[in-house]
Parts: sequence; structure tokens; C-alpha cells
Amino acid sequence: MNLKDSIREIKDFPKPGIGFKDITTLLSNGEAFKFAIDEIIADLKDKNVDVIVGPEARGFLMGTPVAYGMGIGFVPVRKPGKLPGEVESFEYGLEYGTDTLEIHKDAIKPGQRVAIVDDLLATGGTMQAAAKLIEKLGGEVVSMQFLIELEELKGSDKLSNYHVNSLVKY
Ligand code: IMP
Repeated sequence: MNLKDSIREIKDFPKPGIGFKDITTLLSNGEAFKFAIDEIIADLKDKNVDVIVGPEARGFLMGTPVAYGMGIGFVPVRKPGKLPGEVESFEYGLEYGTDTLEIHKDAIKPGQRVAIVDDLLATGGTMQAAAKLIEKLGGEVVSMQFLIELEELKGSDKLSNYHVNSLVKY
């Protein structure tokens, strides 16, 4: 199956000049959605993964079905102020300014093998921040899984110390 057929591009969103990859058309196509999740699960099969982490918000959509399919747990990484318990935070640089991500301190146990799942790899900043949070808690990031990779932004260079898999590349 060619997953590109079910991903829609929206021109000039959220700003003029940007071609936004819209995955809602893939999510609403049951066959394509199941195919994508099964591909991620197949790639993770032999990696002895203990837990899936997904960054807000589209990482929840991709990560929870992967965790369910593998029969393991899911841990959310969220924007500041959303998680109710004690959190670990990581601030990272954007093109203009900074952003922060948080994870519950007790969500990952030292030594756990973690796979992070997100919809799209652009600059790699989000994924790198999620990995830092997991590592601060003593987890080991054994894989990073993406539905889409925008190759010209060279995010995979930033993540070269990790195993990276993307189902579709532009
Ligand atoms: P990065 O941190 O620069 O790699 O950006 C990745 C994050 O931005 C992901 O969590 C995506 O959800 C979001 N993102 C960036 N561009 C797009 C796009 O074209 N479609 C959907 N999400 C995007």
C-alpha cells in the first residue's frame, strides 16, 4: 500500500509558503491507518520494547494504537502544565524562541527500553527533547518511529545516535 495516497497536503498552512502534511485523511481511512500501525509494530518486533512514548498531540494518535497492538503501556509527553503529577521538563530551542516538553517523573523506570512514536519528523527538535526526558528518567531510547519524514530538514542528522524508522519520506 502507498501511504502517500492517503496523506493530504494543505498549501500555506499554518503560514504562507508551508505545505502542511495532513494525516487526518490517513487516520480516517481504516485500511491505511491499520497498515501504518502494523508497519511500526513490525519494525519494533525484535527490539524488546517495554513502553511506548508519544509526544502531544499527534504522537498520541500514532503511539497509543502501537502500544495497544504490542500489549505494552503508553506514556504521554506533553506541553507544560498539562500533566497533573510531578514532572520532568526539558526546554529546547526553536527557530524563534524555545519550547518545553514534560513527562511524569514516575512514568519511566530506570533501565526500561522505550520506543518513541510521532507523526512527523521535521527538524528533529521534538523527538530529541522527548528522548532527553526519557534519558533523564533512566530509560533507554531503543527506537524512534515516524509516519512521515521531511528529509530536506535533515532531522535524522540530529537523531543519528538513535535507531530511526519513517514509513513515508518527502
Ligand atoms: P520537529 O520538532 O521540527 O521535528 O517537528 C515535528 C513536530 O511538528 C511533530 O510533532 C509534528 O506533529 C509537527 N509538524 C511539523 N510539520 C508538520 C506537518 O507538515 N504536518 C504535521 N505535523 C507537522
